[in-house]
Amino acid sequence: MHELALSGAIVNTAVKHARGRPVSAIHLRVGVLRQVVPDTLAFYFAFVARGTLCEGATLDQERIGARLGCRGCAATWGIEIPAFRCPHCGGSEVEILTGQEFEVESIEVEEETACIA
Ligand SMILES: [Zn+2]
Repeated sequence: MHELALSGAIVNTAVKHARGRPVSAIHLRVGVLRQVVPDTLAFYFAFVARGTLCEGATLDQERIGARLGCRGCAATWGIEIPAFRCPHCGGSEVEILTGQEFEVESIEVEEETACIA
């Protein structure tokens, strides 16, 4: 249930950057290797956001596919290939390039509404 801890981190980050303005939307980048369940994250986010500037904000989750890179020949490939071995040179000295993202990319805040009374 690490989605609960992640939700707390998202709310803290957004509130910090919102500087007192209500947050209407939060754009997240989540790597597929983080094993975050989108629905579970949305559920905990709504729970944690209650009573904060993030209450009612939309959580937009962009999924980032995993890519690996070979340290030997610099080839890169998607994780769809089920082997942590370079398909280009056969080397096994590989590193994960993407797929572990978990970051708040941007937030949207509501502008002050003019009083028309
Ligand atoms: Zn290689």
